[in-house]
Amino acid sequence: MTNVEVTMLGTGSPRPDLERSGPSQVLTIDDRHILIDCGEGTTAQLMKAGIPPESIHYLFMTHLHSDHVFGYGQFLLGGWGLGRRKLTVVGPKGMKHFHETIIHLFHEDIDYRTSLGRPGNGVLDVNIIEIDGPGEIDCGLPWKITTAEMVHNVLTYGYRFEIEDKTVVISGDTAPTPAIVELSKDADLLVIDSALAPTGVYRNTKSPELQKIWDNLQKEHCTPEQAGEIGKQAGVKTLVLTHFLPNIIEEETKQQAAAVFNGEVIVGKDLQVIQVKNTISV
Ligand SMILES: [Zn+2]
Ligand SMILES: [Zn+2]
Repeated sequence: MTNVEVTMLGTGSPRPDLERSGPSQVLTIDDRHILIDCGEGTTAQLMKAGIPPESIHYLFMTHLHSDHVFGYGQFLLGGWGLGRRKLTVVGPKGMKHFHETIIHLFHEDIDYRTSLGRPGNGVLDVNIIEIDGPGEIDCGLPWKITTAEMVHNVLTYGYRFEIEDKTVVISGDTAPTPAIVELSKDADLLVIDSALAPTGVYRNTKSPELQKIWDNLQKEHCTPEQAGEIGKQAGVKTLVLTHFLPNIIEEETKQQAAAVFNGEVIVGKDLQVIQVKNTISV
């Protein structure tokens, strides 16, 4: 039977946090690893998780906000340095420009390293696939992968991976939307933005600036309760909350989601490995 698991590499947010690395996770299907998002620290987190960065040949980017892409330069060049010789990156429109900008910034560095004798494959021939709308993605992987547009302030895609009888969905950043409910329909595991979890950063703040930011964030992300509601409506089995600000109140976060969602609720932690079980085998 195919083994499917998700490793939460980074469960953080744009705010630097020693407990939580930048947003990123790995979907592992037997011995194949697919990276979804590439926040700050992704390459180091992969190594801590025992996943060789050079073994990753597919990266799916949900959107191009800084917190989700800050680790890309190190992943691209560092992974190549470790021996990666092929890479496909799937992302929204703008992915190609972002990638080429990094290559351009470091072209002298890459030239130096190729002059030492390293082949340019795996860095100079990266296959970039820009998604041109919701639907099925053909990227050469043998599983059905579909995408839908989320509600966030830049173009953002959630991804649904169907691996035999197991389905995993990664929401990316999003406010509640029927699109994520539809994309997650009957999924075994949904990893969902829960950035509006209770945290001391904003709670009872007397700062009008922080209060204004918190109010505006309501249009871009989910609360744990909204994440729970989405999981419930979609009939998801296990919900993994992620994308946390520093110092969230974990028990309260879990309770808020569990108050509306009857399945398993996991408050994601960095380097946590979650085995994906399907309905029949549970
Ligand atoms: Zn974002
Ligand atoms: Zn984000």
